[in-house]
Order: sequence, then structure tokens, then C-alpha cells
Amino acid sequence: MKRNAAHSDPGKIEQAGSRWDDELKEVFGSIPPHDIVGLYCLVHTDSPSPAIRRDRVKTFRPDNYFDCHCDMCQIFLDQGSIMIYDGSDVTALRRGQGSTIEMVSFNPAAKAASSN
Ligand SMILES: [Zn+2]
Repeated sequence: MKRNAAHSDPGKIEQAGSRWDDELKEVFGSIPPHDIVGLYCLVHTDSPSPAIRRDRVKTFRPDNYFDCHCDMCQIFLDQGSIMIYDGSDVTALRRGQGSTIEMVSFNPAAKAASSN
């Protein structure tokens, strides 16, 4: 079976100790509680209950966030990102060109209210 670490099966949950560790240390100073889902690393900075954390992982769909078909969304979809859950917003964060960081925040409540 051919395996490609950079493009693991979407939806598959991997163990900690991943390609994200360096980036997590860079952003947070240490490795926060997180779950790997496909190309994404869900980071829980709001100390959720185990049930909420499991639910985030189970229901995570990248195209619920990166849904406007712009170039930036496409990069996040193609390459994955860190997704930071802070209790109110969800912030997607990825390394850009050179040492830049690309970041976009989502407010799930506002999104639910405006969905049509
Ligand atoms: Zn977009």
C-alpha cells in the first residue's frame, strides 16, 4: 500500500507526533491539545470537553470554511492548515511564502446565521 504522509486520507485521524509539531511549537510555544484530520490540525485552546472535541473532529469539513472559491481558499484546501478553536472563533493558519503566516478567522455563529 502506497502511503503519502503529506496527503493522508481525508477524515483519517492520526496520532500526535506529526508534521505539525514544529509549526505548533512556533505558533504556541509548546504543543497544545490537537487532533490531526487529513491535511488539517485542529487545535483546541479552549479546553473543550472530550465530547465536544470528538465532535469537532468528527464533523470537521474543510469546505465548510474555505467555500468561496478564491485563490486563498484553494491554497488552504490544497495544503491544509492549523485550525484554532478558541471557544468563539475558528482561525485557520498556515505558513505562506518565506516566513509569512497566512491567517483567516471564521465565526461559526455568524456563519450559521447568514447561511441560506
Ligand atoms: Zn476564499
